[in-house]
Amino acid sequence: MRPLLITDCDEVLLHMVRHFRTWLDEHHAIDFAIGAGDFATSMTRRDGGGAIPQAEMWSLLGGFFPAEMSRQTLVPHAAEALQAIATQAEIVILTNLLDECRLPRVEQLAAFGIAHRVVCNQGGKGPAVAALLAEHGDVDGPPVAVFVDDIAGHHESVARHAPGVHRLHLIADAELAAAMPAAPFAHARIDDWREALPWIQARFAGGAPAAA
Ligand SMILES: [Mg+2]
Repeated sequence: MRPLLITDCDEVLLHMVRHFRTWLDEHHAIDFAIGAGDFATSMTRRDGGGAIPQAEMWSLLGGFFPAEMSRQTLVPHAAEALQAIATQAEIVILTNLLDECRLPRVEQLAAFGIAHRVVCNQGGKGPAVAALLAEHGDVDGPPVAVFVDDIAGHHESVARHAPGVHRLHLIADAELAAAMPAAPFAHARIDDWREALPWIQARFAGGAPAAA
């Protein structure tokens, strides 16, 4: 049974926050302070119009995905790392987007030379990771698996629903990474794919079952 890598996309494989900030600046006269809190509290209207309510934050994200996805850029060394991992493991990209954004995401990644299965999810990623483990397992149980994400809450969710999965906290944007502490429920924090690759390969080589 081949090992399984389950990786997030935004701020792991593709840069997002810096491009979202540029778009908010250019089209909405909103300043976005990367790492200042959650997305809504990070935004400030330049006309002094007050705080951005959660509903408007979701609507702005809906304006970015999928219409502005072409602004996103590849995280350095991510494609090379996935290429190396694909020689020994299955790869699933688990991205928190609405289902109608799945094909745009597939095409966006393909343009960067990343062609792996894309699964869309909403909310905590633990249940989806548990389902993928069951799907990729056999009579011996689930495969050895690694989960990579920039959001601490998803590591907590995976720890709860699929505790045997090795969890790597990776934040590709340097500004965001500097503002964010290590996720308490991740096993490691590595923000550079050149170092993440050997860490992931070592987990696969260790062979500990995901159900451990
Ligand atoms: Mg992300």
